[in-house]
Amino acid sequence: MTFGNFVRDHRYNRRRDLHDPYGGQRQGGIITPSKHPVIFAITGESGVQHGYLDGWTEDGQVFRYFGEGQEGDMTFTSGNKAIRDHVAEGEDLLLFQKQHRSGMLRFLGQFVCVSTTRELTPDRHGNMRNGIVFNLVPVEALQEADAAETEADHSASGLDLAALRSAAMGAASTGEEEPAEGARRRVYQRSEVVRRYVLARAAGICECCKSPAPFLRTNGEPYLEPHHIRRVSDGGPDDPRYVAGVCPTCHRRIHHGADGKDINEALGEAILRFEYAVASVEPPNQTTRKRVMA
Ligand SMILES: [Zn+2]
Repeated sequence: MTFGNFVRDHRYNRRRDLHDPYGGQRQGGIITPSKHPVIFAITGESGVQHGYLDGWTEDGQVFRYFGEGQEGDMTFTSGNKAIRDHVAEGEDLLLFQKQHRSGMLRFLGQFVCVSTTRELTPDRHGNMRNGIVFNLVPVEALQEADAAETEADHSASGLDLAALRSAAMGAASTGEEEPAEGARRRVYQRSEVVRRYVLARAAGICECCKSPAPFLRTNGEPYLEPHHIRRVSDGGPDDPRYVAGVCPTCHRRIHHGADGKDINEALGEAILRFEYAVASVEPPNQTTRKRVMA
């Protein structure tokens, strides 16, 4: 699994590999660079010292990551808020583990926060306080689920475009106070609802070049691919206003073409215009808007 220059299990230097190219806070375990739609979450030694017990659940499906805040109850502000809202804000979440001896950061992969739970945990003085646990699932687990459920689950296939849209619009939020097991399943379904709506909106025509889908799937549906306009990766849930149904050629061109960035920006503006006009949706917040229009 790779993300940009990051390769899973490879080790990186915080200053040289994270701060020099991306910026972001030099202190603390949650780094939120202001000019890049990415969040770096660091787990490891210092977390354990403050009573955090970050780590995989017994079944190995979910990584439990404690929020930041050294004393008092943890709150959904700064880094904690960024992780909770990363899907809705179109931010990619990358997890690193600090190495005991070298201080280097081992890349664990890209994750999706599927829910948050509250848990008593000691603060730096040993006083118990109300902590936040983020339930993180590897993004590729959600991509596999996307593929597996495409053929199996047709529960939404009878809905019209408006019904699909309203289902998809509610799909990007993170569940609060929800156990990880149920949340993981729900996020699969959310990804699928968004995918369904976007492909229904495209109606067999590439939303980028306006050509018909190049061929039909084995089930007879036109073949288009969901493309996440704001994010580097195309997996997991997202807000349907920032996902397009595109042909394979446009998809490759956006990701690999010399003019890919320009095409992606034009596509993003066209999709937003359409959604405002047809769906009467709430405008995105300022930071989101700037990123799309920038
Ligand atoms: Zn196309």
